[in-house]
Amino acid sequence: MKTIQVELGNRSYPIHVKSGLLSEIPTVLTDKNHGQKWVIISQHRLMELFGFDLMAQLKNDDFDIDYIKLPVGEAAKSLNEFSGVISQMIEMKCDRSTTILALGGGVVGDVAGFVASSFMRGVDYYQLPTTLLAMVDSAIGGKTGINIAEGKNLVGSIYQPKGVFVDPEILDSLPKKEVISGLGEVIKYGAIWDQEFFNHIAEWLDNLDTFPFEKAVHRACEIKAEIVSKDEREGDLRRLLNFGHTIGHALEAHFGYGKIRHGEAVALGMKCAGWISNKTGHLEDTDTEYLMKTIDKLTLPSVKKLDPNTILSFVKKDKKVRNGILHFVVLEELGRGNTSKSITDELIIESLKTIS
Ligand code: NAD
Repeated sequence: MKTIQVELGNRSYPIHVKSGLLSEIPTVLTDKNHGQKWVIISQHRLMELFGFDLMAQLKNDDFDIDYIKLPVGEAAKSLNEFSGVISQMIEMKCDRSTTILALGGGVVGDVAGFVASSFMRGVDYYQLPTTLLAMVDSAIGGKTGINIAEGKNLVGSIYQPKGVFVDPEILDSLPKKEVISGLGEVIKYGAIWDQEFFNHIAEWLDNLDTFPFEKAVHRACEIKAEIVSKDEREGDLRRLLNFGHTIGHALEAHFGYGKIRHGEAVALGMKCAGWISNKTGHLEDTDTEYLMKTIDKLTLPSVKKLDPNTILSFVKKDKKVRNGILHFVVLEELGRGNTSKSITDELIIESLKTIS
């Protein structure tokens, strides 16, 4: 088992990465079981695939464990579902010692993490990511949250889990489109942080059947852990993780959540951000072309019908705009991201031509 540490003083925690790890979780967690109530928060299909087996094993090892189901999709990230989970936990007689296991993709992780941060002012939780996107991104770093009518992730907290268990074998059942979405985030890590990793990803993407997920997930987790350890609350360093996200989030909002996946939108956003990096004199032509070609190895949805002005209005509402200034992530070269505060509306609009 490979273990990466997120270093945050007394809130530090390990990310364990190993194929087949799910079946070892009862053993790994046994010394954390003090007779408290444990709750798995997940989705019906994921309970069928992995959750009921995990529950049976944990029960066998004397864990007092129950589960709560969330719906599929962004609908789960609502105030309504959030309060429904809290009510069920009260019914289950959960208390301050309760420990939550978030078994699922980013949706489950975000809701379960937010529940953990707020139930009785905070209980322990572990992330058991089941999508590629969650393994390399959303399960690490403690960002939790739900959506409200006014926008996505507008209610939430930064609340770190006690540990993250990554079992790449779980990806075998993940639909291909979800895999592609996660690969968008994997490319991001190479692009902003590690050129050699980027080169490997570019090569691995030539044949998805042989893509070494365990290796890629491990390196991506290392990068995310390193960044979050140095900058937990989105200063300039953590902001680098937003490469492709400014326009990506706008695409998600424009086309509707559920129509375009998060990682797909980020991949398209990275093409625009790569183009902008080039036009503003940051990224050289050859690197820009290499970035575009690598992203084009992913089968991404068509966004030909986008309206540039709508995209721009969403960009301006984005959380990355602070005091009216947009902090836009550009690449200086492949493997080195940076933040620019001088990206104009015209450049953003023009960059959309690379994807539409
Ligand atoms: P998701 O959680 O909606 O999962 C996608 C689909 O795959 C769901 O239908 C799910 O049931 C199914 N699924 C999950 N694992 C499976 C498996 N192993 N086999 C078969 N089916 C499986 O999508 P996601 O892309 O993981 O997460 C998207 C969410 O993550 C968004 O809400 C986004 O805002 C959030 N997010 C959060 C952070 C963060 O730092 N907290 C970062 C990025 C994204």
